[in-house]
Amino acid sequence: MKRGSSGFLEKIVPSEILQVKPYVPGKPIEEVKRELGLSKVIKLASNENPLGPSPEAVEAICRYASQVHLYPDGDCYYLKRELALHLEVEPDNIILGNGSDEIVSILTRVFIQEGKEAIMGYPSFLMYKIDTQLARGKIICVPLNDFKIDIDAIIKAINSNTRIIFISNPNNPTGTIVTREKMQELVENIPPWVLVVCDEAYYEYVEDSLYPDSLRWVKEGKNVVVLRTFSKIYGLAGLRIGYGVARKEIISILNRARPPFNVNLLAQVAARASLKDKKHLLKSKNLIKEEKKFLYTKLKELGVEFVPSQTNFILIKTGNKTEEIINNLLKKGIIVRGMQAYNLPDYIRLTIGTREENEFFIQEFRKTFR
Ligand SMILES: *Cc1c(COP(=O)(O)O)cnc(C)c1O
Repeated sequence: MKRGSSGFLEKIVPSEILQVKPYVPGKPIEEVKRELGLSKVIKLASNENPLGPSPEAVEAICRYASQVHLYPDGDCYYLKRELALHLEVEPDNIILGNGSDEIVSILTRVFIQEGKEAIMGYPSFLMYKIDTQLARGKIICVPLNDFKIDIDAIIKAINSNTRIIFISNPNNPTGTIVTREKMQELVENIPPWVLVVCDEAYYEYVEDSLYPDSLRWVKEGKNVVVLRTFSKIYGLAGLRIGYGVARKEIISILNRARPPFNVNLLAQVAARASLKDKKHLLKSKNLIKEEKKFLYTKLKELGVEFVPSQTNFILIKTGNKTEEIINNLLKKGIIVRGMQAYNLPDYIRLTIGTREENEFFIQEFRKTFR
C-alpha cells in the first residue's frame, strides 16, 4: 500500500467501530513461559477450573476426534434435549453458542442498532460494552454501589431507546450477586421493548440462598434471557460452548442471527459428557468452597481488603503497589488479572486455584504487599 493511504481506513470504517477498545484477555501460559523463560507457570487470571475438564469429557473428545472431518450438528439436537431435561425447560427454549460470549454478540446484533441503548452495571463483563458498540448502539454504564449492581439506578436509566439490560449475576469482576428480590423488581419494572439478560456464568458456584432462580421468569414468559456456560465450572473454556435460555419467540429470533455451525463437534460431545458427570462438578464446587475459605483467612492475616465472592475469583485491593505486585508475581510464574480495564486500578482479580497454587500465590504476594 502507498504511504499516505493509511488514513483511508478511518474514512471507510464507522467511528463507533474505531472507538471500540479491544478486549484484553488474561495472558496465556505459553506466552509467559516463552517471554520470561520459565518452565512452570500458573494462570489465576481467567476464572478457569483448576481441576481441568471432566475425565468423561476428555474421553468423549478422544472418542470423537476422528470425526472432525464432518460438520457438527448445527442444531445441537442431543445436547439441547439433555440440557432441556437438566433445566426443566423445552428444547425450543435453548440456543447454543460458541461460548456464551457469542450469545451476547447475537443479542446485540438482533436488538441493538443506531440510536438504541443497552444498560450495564459498571464495572462488569466488558463484552457487553464492546458488542453494543459493534452493533452501533450506545452503552449506558451505571456505577456499582458498594461493589454491587445498583438495580434502582438501572431502573431509572431505562428509556424508550433501551433494548437490553445486562446483569452479570454474580458480577464479574466483583463476585457479588443481585438478590432474588431485587431481580424480581427489575423484571417487573421493564417495559415490553426491554430484555433483561441474566448472565450466570458462575451460577454453579453460588452459595448465597438469596440468589434468584431466574429460569422461573423464562418459564413465566417474561422478557428474560438466562446465559450459562461450560467455560467456567465445567472446565471447557478452550472448546467454546455456552447457551441462552428464553421463551420460544425470543430463541426463534436469535436463531436467525446464529451462524449455522457455531458450536463445534468436540464441544458438543464434551458438554454432553460434562453434564452427566455430577462427580466432577461436585468436586470442583467443593474445591472452590474450601480454597476460598483458605484464601480469605490468609488475606485477612495479611490485612488485605477484598470483596467477599460468590464465584471462583476474588477481587483484592492491592492499592498503589498494584503494578509492582502483578509484575513480581509474573516473574515467579503466577498470572493474575490487573483491573485497569475495569476502572479498578488499585485491584487485582485472583482466580481461586488448587491448594498448592493458592499457597504459592500467598507466599509470593506477601513479599511485595507487606
Ligand atoms: C467468562 C464469562 C463469560 C464468557 O463465557 P464463555 O462462555 O467462555 O464465552 C460470560 N460472562 C461472564 C460474566 C463471564 O465471566
